[in-house]
Amino acid sequence: MSRAAYDHKFVKAFPDKLDEGILYVSVEFSTAAHRCFCGCGSEVYTRFSPRDWSMKFNGEVVSINPSIGNWSFPCQSHYILDGGRVHWADKWSRERIELGRLLDRDRKERHYKGELQASPPPRPIEPASRPGILARFTRWLTAR
Ligand SMILES: [Zn+2]
Repeated sequence: MSRAAYDHKFVKAFPDKLDEGILYVSVEFSTAAHRCFCGCGSEVYTRFSPRDWSMKFNGEVVSINPSIGNWSFPCQSHYILDGGRVHWADKWSRERIELGRLLDRDRKERHYKGELQASPPPRPIEPASRPGILARFTRWLTAR
């Protein structure tokens, strides 16, 4: 039976057996876990990252963005977890799933490239124990 609502639990690590109707959130692992809300029993893990899902907690309820498409499970259910309510979305056709996967891969690749450009790896700063070549050159010039 598909659910219309869920509770959340903040955990350090996920329990061996996930309870139905609970969205487990581990900040430690930047991941949420729940049993598919269609009732099929599949365990669904959603990772939080700029390229994957993000979580919103307003002090009472947890929301997850974007929607969760369980394409790799037999149920192929698709829903949005918004403020403790499960909004059921339409199932996708195989073509649409493939297209979605392609777009997702493209989006992630572009994100990784953008990330590399935005933040170069930090370099150690060299202490200025010796004057640089330019400083030595100007000293040589002014000394004459
Ligand atoms: Zn399911």
